[in-house]
Amino acid sequence: MIRLPKEIAHMIKTIEDAGYEAYAVGGCVRDSILGIPPEDWDLTSNASRETLEALFPDAAIVNKKLGVMRITEGEVKADIAAYRIDGEYEDYRRPETVAFTEKIDEDLRRRDFTMNAIAVSPGRGVVDPFLGRADIEGKLIRGIGDPRLRFEEDALRILRGIRFAAQLDFEIDGETLRAMKEKAKLLKYISMERIREEFTKTITASYGGKGLGLFLETGVLVYILGEDCINHIGVAAREKLGLLAEKIDQAEKEPNLRLALFYLCFEKDCALAAIDRLGYSNERKILLRNAVGLTDELDGIREKKSLKRLISRVGLEIYRYLTEVSKQQCRVYRLDETALLDRIQLFDSIQENGEAIFIEDLAVDGNDLIQIGIKEGVAIGKALNHMLATVHQCPEKNKKDQLLKIAERIKI
Ligand code: ATP
Ligand code: MG
Repeated sequence: MIRLPKEIAHMIKTIEDAGYEAYAVGGCVRDSILGIPPEDWDLTSNASRETLEALFPDAAIVNKKLGVMRITEGEVKADIAAYRIDGEYEDYRRPETVAFTEKIDEDLRRRDFTMNAIAVSPGRGVVDPFLGRADIEGKLIRGIGDPRLRFEEDALRILRGIRFAAQLDFEIDGETLRAMKEKAKLLKYISMERIREEFTKTITASYGGKGLGLFLETGVLVYILGEDCINHIGVAAREKLGLLAEKIDQAEKEPNLRLALFYLCFEKDCALAAIDRLGYSNERKILLRNAVGLTDELDGIREKKSLKRLISRVGLEIYRYLTEVSKQQCRVYRLDETALLDRIQLFDSIQENGEAIFIEDLAVDGNDLIQIGIKEGVAIGKALNHMLATVHQCPEKNKKDQLLKIAERIKI
């Protein structure tokens, strides 16, 4: 039995009572069978848009071309669309045109994997022409029809399949896996945005390591890293990636941390180019670039002065993030934590003692310096930086009179 929430069952019944068919379909049915609460509900029906609009006057239009509407009952939202078959595929992307159909089986056939092509209605029962339930039972991802043709139609399906394997701990059926390898090159037609989304979801999944392994095995990795980077990958990077694939499931599922672990497998320039190319949000890009650029430097720090200098350069937020990345590295690769713990202790002690890290922490400011005759502008900045370097070394000198004395000396 596949249980649907009463709100969804009621939506379906409303349509059926008006003389049409309606089913819950796709990921929500798959997840219900697996006992995972679905994130979103999709319904499909042979009722026309006008009929659905009359039955659900509050419905909002989500996608005009496909006739998708969002209906709400209580707390539950569902997207409802008419049965359709996809039109001609162009350039290995989803079709521009669609045609509607009267048959639920035809709507199911255009879907990607057998587990995503099951339809359920409390009144009509289950429609499962491709034996998706048996594949779910066997934890198997299997393309519908000839997987080669289906990946040719839309290469994004290759990444979706790998992502589902990583989220659900499913295996990819042999024929489907061979087709993925054969058609991976068609990913060059898929937008960077979709690649980034699927890649991020895969690496942060519960079985992200399995996903990474599949990226390597299928040859998809080049579309994540870019040609420039992949051509420079040596044996060392491949070994690191292989190790990460075995271990990454132990890391926290936070995307910024898992992505950092991934990019740290490569040489700096290669990793930076790969990060830039995927077009992450600015915030994420800055974090990842810093992880790649600074993790080694931070690892080498053993005393307070250098730690304060680095934090004054990058800010507290980046420093805290880099420390989290180091923690994940230690956890995942079972590295000796001594240096990391020592550094955390240094930082705690800096904070407890109220030692100055930033220019704003100094006991003097620009106005004090102007008063003793230092010219506004560059000279002030130089003087403050000089004082900060002194105070990083000797925190006890962070007193107004002492700092002004230093300033007097460098004034001339
Ligand atoms: P999730 O929501 O966890 O990403 P999902 O399977 O629900 O998984 P959606 O993108 O919400 O994925 O799509 C809903 C359904 O639409 C899928 O289950 C599948 O039947 C169909 N579908 C989505 N994308 C494709 C595609 N690229 N090719 C064929 N069918 C697709
Ligand atoms: Mg979904």
